[in-house]
Amino acid sequence: MISDIIEKKNIEALSHLLAGSKSCVILSHSRPDGDAMGSSLALYHFLQENGKAATIVVPNDYPPFLAWMPGIENVIVYDKGHAPAEEAIKSADIIFCLDFNSLSRIDETGKSVSEASAPKVLIDHHLFPDDIFDIAISHPEASSTSELVFRVIMQMGRADLISREAAECIYTGIMTDTGNFAYASSGKDIYHIVAELISKGIDKDIIYRRVFYNYSFCRMRLMGYMMYEKLKYYPEKNAALLTLTYDELKRFNGAKGDTEGIVNMPLQIKGVRFSCFLREESKGKINVSLRSVDNFPCNEVAAKLFNGGGHKNASGGEVRGTMEDAEQLFIKTLEVFSTELTE
Ligand code: 5GP
Ligand code: MN
Repeated sequence: MISDIIEKKNIEALSHLLAGSKSCVILSHSRPDGDAMGSSLALYHFLQENGKAATIVVPNDYPPFLAWMPGIENVIVYDKGHAPAEEAIKSADIIFCLDFNSLSRIDETGKSVSEASAPKVLIDHHLFPDDIFDIAISHPEASSTSELVFRVIMQMGRADLISREAAECIYTGIMTDTGNFAYASSGKDIYHIVAELISKGIDKDIIYRRVFYNYSFCRMRLMGYMMYEKLKYYPEKNAALLTLTYDELKRFNGAKGDTEGIVNMPLQIKGVRFSCFLREESKGKINVSLRSVDNFPCNEVAAKLFNGGGHKNASGGEVRGTMEDAEQLFIKTLEVFSTELTE
């Protein structure tokens, strides 16, 4: 039995909105991951089954290991041409915002969303959402936004409209956001939800292989290089650091998505509670990924030192400056959060 965690008034308001709408736009966050694409595509399939026109807009491209997802070929990538995305946002009569809590997370598409007159519906699992949504379905305790999309549909009494394609997308989001059920997945409901998805005909083992056994030879070499040459270990602070410059990534013929998951690896070292990965995205821009176990608050680190945010155990941000500047900020983090790291 799956419990109803979403407030009844939100479900009723959403059902009412949907009943009077024809076309919906679904937005998700910059550098979309498995949950961003999974939740958006699941909702897209559901809306289509429901007789609605639906369009997904993401600020920039999804990684290649998600290219197999059903319906992904119809996603509009704002970076590849602004007009179709802006038109879709302007003409929609509902705007769904999935897997992000603030318009700053959707880059320039945020401007079109804030200017659009259509009601905005948030479905998300990040802490502290902006106060701009007409309906805010915000559950930081959920494993993933994909889980929430399942719950919304179920609580609307329309689980019958979840197709196998939608179920594959929901499973992908739950699987990727929980590291294949390694974290944020201790509640029993999630396994009942997985059982429902399996009854829709998904093959979870094939989905696992499509996502996690889909890397290039270059990526394997890059991983080896990173672990052997680039990993710094701070045993007295229970922390680890990985850095990668733009030139190093190019040297390994690295592509978008090739560094996915690398930040989690140092957490496998006994005692390590905090891992930081600094990746030079372009000159003067360093992308920051943070991961932790137990109570160490990555999101506080991201907000305080790296101009970002996220979840307690998985956060991100950026540094405008050199790799050396970013490394200095990491060293500062170890000092500022010394008590939390060593207690
Ligand atoms: P990743 O390390 O995979 O890029 O990001 C992990 C998580 O951190 C994301 O799911 C998202 O919740 C959060 N995150 C990443 N980058 C940012 C950022 O620039 N700002 C905020 N607020 N959150 C971020
Ligand atoms: Mn998510």
